[in-house]
Amino acid sequence: MTWLQELENCITEGQVLTSLANRYSYSFDASFGEHLPEAVVKVKQKQEVVQVLKLANKHLIPVYPRGSGTCLSGGPLPVHGGIVLDLSQFPKKIDMRPEDLTVTVTPSVLTAKINDEAEKHGLMYAPDPSSAHVATIGGNLAENSGGPRGLKYGVTKDHVLGLEVVTPEGDVIRTGGQTIKNVTGYDLTKLIVGSEGTLGVIVEATLKLMPKPPAVQTMMIAFSNVRKAGEAISKTLTSGILPAKMEFMDQACIQAVENFQPIGLPVDAAAIIIVELDGHPEALQVERKIVEEIMNDMGAEDIIIPKTDKEAKDLWHARKQVSPAIAKIKPTKVSEDATVPRSKIPDFMDRLQAIKEKHKVEIVVFGHAGDGNLHPNILCDQRDAEEMKRAELAVEEMFEAALELGGTLSGEHGIGTMKAPFLELELGEVGVDMTKRIKDAWDPN
Ligand SMILES: Cc1cc2nc3c(=O)[nH]c(=O)nc-3n(C[C@H](O)[C@H](O)[C@H](O)COP(=O)(O)OP(=O)(O)OC[C@H]3O[C@@H](n4cnc5c(N)ncnc54)[C@H](O)[C@@H]3O)c2cc1C
Repeated sequence: MTWLQELENCITEGQVLTSLANRYSYSFDASFGEHLPEAVVKVKQKQEVVQVLKLANKHLIPVYPRGSGTCLSGGPLPVHGGIVLDLSQFPKKIDMRPEDLTVTVTPSVLTAKINDEAEKHGLMYAPDPSSAHVATIGGNLAENSGGPRGLKYGVTKDHVLGLEVVTPEGDVIRTGGQTIKNVTGYDLTKLIVGSEGTLGVIVEATLKLMPKPPAVQTMMIAFSNVRKAGEAISKTLTSGILPAKMEFMDQACIQAVENFQPIGLPVDAAAIIIVELDGHPEALQVERKIVEEIMNDMGAEDIIIPKTDKEAKDLWHARKQVSPAIAKIKPTKVSEDATVPRSKIPDFMDRLQAIKEKHKVEIVVFGHAGDGNLHPNILCDQRDAEEMKRAELAVEEMFEAALELGGTLSGEHGIGTMKAPFLELELGEVGVDMTKRIKDAWDPN
């Protein structure tokens, strides 16, 4: 019996997809890679994950876990064929324990839903990737995703207490637990978080919740000079104030959003910074004044304070529209997330401008600038081989620039298949070898 027949025998009918029409959409994620799986299994319970992994381990078939497929680095793509394990149909459980400030969830739950549930108890789940309304918590855990609030509250790994994982050999293990403190053994939880689906399949997670701040204050600051905007971010962060969010958009992003869904952003500005302060309402008034003073000192063209909650929401909505808006400019979007120490943001912006001019590529920049995590996006056309070659060279130089400035290849999108060729630049030969040895220990086959 072939492994495919064995798979169809052990999993409920209708959950194993083998026809080309059904498999095709699993060839893609939100990067620009394309790899067709031999089979897709829509798992609906832990035991099915165990069965698929045991069978795949026996027949040496690669398995790729998948949540919503919004990955920007090619993580869920079946680069060596085999099985895509679709976890999006897993039962969605959100088990709130407000008295412990924790919640236990299954991997298929959309991240924004966890925060929605927490808010009903006056709590929040802090990680807020811009894709939170479409991406799964399983994908967030595997990518160690971050979002605008990462500036103040950290990324996914800072909010995970424990996991239940099916290992590549089909065994079930628990890591960490339910308690805030836990130093028993190696920190396997942190090893699995950010492992991009290479060390096992997460089937349950216990996450930390925190009290929801009583008030927030949004501000938008326009600059006529990109470097000045970068310097203003560094200046604010060393002033003793820690905003919850500090997001950056360059002129191309501002104009793209205004062409896509106009809300009245200043299209003539070279860059805008959108800030959110959170905390006690009286403290926010003081902090807002300090930020205004810093921004004026740094040469801000305009400071806009939303008058209503709706105006503030519209500004954050505009920030979320950047990705879909810039995708309209050209058919292919090479989306990077190289991250530098915060003080190096102005230098990184200069380097990006030089790379753009040298390789004659269209680069737009936005991102979570407060934590040094910029998203330079190269807009190009995959069908134009010459343009793609220039884009490739530009990406390589972007990574080199980030590393030279003391940064990293990826602040939140992961290495995936897209950045794998560059991993050694950051980890070194021995670092990559150690990584492979960890992989071999977890997944001998
Ligand atoms: C418009 C847009 C905005 C985005 N904004 C952000 C942002 O602000 N911050 C950010 O960090 N990312 C962002 N992303 C990237 C993406 O949404 C995140 O990486 C997200 O965590 C992926 O979740 P997913 O459910 O789509 O996972 P998938 O794309 O399906 O998979 C991602 C990775 O996780 C693995 N995986 C999935 N589920 C499991 C599981 N249960 N067990 C083990 N491994 C698993 C997969 O194998 C793969 O390697 C954005 C993407 C888009 C398209």
